[in-house]
Amino acid sequence: MEGDRISYHESVRKVYQRIKKDGMDNIWDRYEAQGLGAPDKRCPFCQAGVRCDLCSNGPCRADAAKDKKGVCGIKADGMAMRMMLLRNVMGASTYHYHTEQTIKTLRATAGKKTPFQIKEPGKLKDFAKRLGVSTAGSIDKIAIRLCDFAEADFNRKLDEPSKIVEALAPNERKELWRKLDIFPGGIHGEMMFATSSCLTNVDGYYQSLALKAMRLGVAMAYQSQIVNEYCQDVLYGIPRPHKMRVDLGVLDPDYVNVLPNGHEPFLGFAMVQLARKPEWQKKARDTGAKGLRVIANTETGQEMIQRWEMDSTFYGFTGNWIMQEAVLASGCVDLLACDMNCSMPIDPLYAQRYKFKLIPVSELVAFEGITERINYEPEKAEEQAALLLQMAIDNFKVRRASIEPVTQLPMREAVVGFSTESILEALGGSLAPLLGAIKDGTLRGVAGLVSCTTLRDHGQDVHSVRVARELIKRDILVLSMGCGNGAMQVAGLCSPEAKEFAGPGLKGLCEKLNIPPVLSYGTCTDTGRLADLLAAVSAALGGVPMPDLPVAAVAPEYMEQKATIDAIFALALGLYTYVNPVPTVTGAPNLVKLLTQDCKNVTGGLLNVETDAVKAVDGILAHIEANRKKLGI
Ligand code: SF4
Ligand code: SF4
Repeated sequence: MEGDRISYHESVRKVYQRIKKDGMDNIWDRYEAQGLGAPDKRCPFCQAGVRCDLCSNGPCRADAAKDKKGVCGIKADGMAMRMMLLRNVMGASTYHYHTEQTIKTLRATAGKKTPFQIKEPGKLKDFAKRLGVSTAGSIDKIAIRLCDFAEADFNRKLDEPSKIVEALAPNERKELWRKLDIFPGGIHGEMMFATSSCLTNVDGYYQSLALKAMRLGVAMAYQSQIVNEYCQDVLYGIPRPHKMRVDLGVLDPDYVNVLPNGHEPFLGFAMVQLARKPEWQKKARDTGAKGLRVIANTETGQEMIQRWEMDSTFYGFTGNWIMQEAVLASGCVDLLACDMNCSMPIDPLYAQRYKFKLIPVSELVAFEGITERINYEPEKAEEQAALLLQMAIDNFKVRRASIEPVTQLPMREAVVGFSTESILEALGGSLAPLLGAIKDGTLRGVAGLVSCTTLRDHGQDVHSVRVARELIKRDILVLSMGCGNGAMQVAGLCSPEAKEFAGPGLKGLCEKLNIPPVLSYGTCTDTGRLADLLAAVSAALGGVPMPDLPVAAVAPEYMEQKATIDAIFALALGLYTYVNPVPTVTGAPNLVKLLTQDCKNVTGGLLNVETDAVKAVDGILAHIEANRKKLGI
């Protein structure tokens, strides 16, 4: 592989040369090696989603055209949807694991047992009020009440409707979800319900499995995602726009560089708080380094950079997960602290070769050959952060003496930190200017780009950048989330100068409000936050149903199981949802028809799959224009 089949980003392409020179095992070669003749070609049954190895009668392969079924009798449609639902269970449980850690952290912080403080008492009260939690008494008491309320809801029985969904979702959706019997109970029960449905000889009917996936998606978006992000805002601050250095150039070999990696930002924030202290900077200097830096990485980094300003210690953000081996091979890393998400099984090999400490900081994460670990505990966050920083400082001399770093890597500044609150602030306190711009046609619509990054069909971030550029060119404002947000930041689309790529309407709006055409809106967990924003837009427009809004969900490079449940939730919410690469369901004709056509008559949502970026945006724009017409704007 070469050129943009490696990555959109010049920095990654440059470090790839070093990886090759060093003879290192790497994601690009492994991707190619999986191909049957061509890198993207895989087993046709697997690629079409029609194979199953759940029981000892398998593995089975189904063929809808020949009416060939699994040994148990399940058809291709059931097989593909059952596997999709199982993926979604993994996504929901991982999102929810993070949420439970956040609740634990908030509870311990309210008890004054962590190094953190409740930074946003106003948001805590507003959120408590929305959930129907009493706001009487001290801030700490409200926080504890909110934690109790959330945990009770997570554990609600399957047949008891979730109070969180009841409090947060728009009425029009709730009515529909009740009618379809997909209004969820507590998320734990929902995960059990979904998983149990997938057992051999339990539920083999694709329509029923698809509805169960939506039900789980609704539980996940409101109970896991919104609760998580809003409580993290309460603890660490509501994202507000500010500049952030991005790309591999943020790595300077002469500093002790500590990289929190994954999705949970707790120890990352604790490390920044400590590393900002003069005594820790001195410790780093005493070992011969210029200082100590915490470098934001993947989604843990994204959670952090959205909320905290950069300085000489919290220096910048590298990018999304596919560039992980490039980050590690830069020769600048002293410690990678790995929480719940996005640390690759290959990392120990890189730790050995490029001399850095690889430390799991979540009980979920494990690597072959790595025995040292620090499992995050909110009450011990400061002590654990200090241990990690000390390990990195102790590592510096060894790393600096033995590894030749890659230097002169590019760096730029992106504007990050847009949230519903900060968008409202930028608009002068109300959604009216944004809605006005949509109504008068200055903006045609809004796309929520919630995406990952994948090597399927293109290099890292190549297709995401193409789709985003095509969207802004056609005056569609983009709110970006997830690893795809990292793609936008590093590619320059979250910088004000990117307005030059926008259509005339969007460009004018960017100039008037001094914003980039792609607003950096957070991580994939912020999908719930986006749903909440859309509910506010719908209400501000006088109760326009979700499917009729001039908006779309866009996932140009979805990758893992958290992304698949996001897409299914978007369908339940009634959104036109563009996904790429083509999901592994193509061998299931009735399921494909359900997702891409019939779903419109069920929830109002629709899945669009199109591998060409221009044609994909043609489809998105056609949907937006049809809705504009329906709304008479
Ligand atoms: S569950 Fe059915 S399709 Fe799957 S392996 Fe067993 S018999 Fe085959
Ligand atoms: S689901 Fe996608 S966006 Fe979210 S952390 Fe995983 S790779 Fe990144």
